[in-house]
Amino acid sequence: MHELSLLENVRVILEDHAKKQNFQRVEEITLEIGALSCVETEALAFAFEAVMKGSLAENAQLRFKHIDAQGRCLSCGQLTVMEMLYDACEHCGHPHVDVVSGLEMKITELKVS
Ligand SMILES: [Zn+2]
Repeated sequence: MHELSLLENVRVILEDHAKKQNFQRVEEITLEIGALSCVETEALAFAFEAVMKGSLAENAQLRFKHIDAQGRCLSCGQLTVMEMLYDACEHCGHPHVDVVSGLEMKITELKVS
């Protein structure tokens, strides 16, 4: 379950932000989840409590924002929406598409106090 290590990274980032921006508590956190990130939101929500226990984000509300993955076709050069890693170009059907976005998970919004 790589959700655990993802969340440990999130916790480190939060603690870092807290030091720099001088806040004590995180009340709400929004994570953007790319369609190709292979992150399961259920597993994330489950691991979140355990990882954040005793930290400044204990009891924080966790929200998810799903984003489509996008790729650039190596044949026609257009952007195409990808639901899976090996999706073909939606414009010309070419099988080789470079993933541009959607592989990552990142923090997009924080509500702090
Ligand atoms: Zn194409």
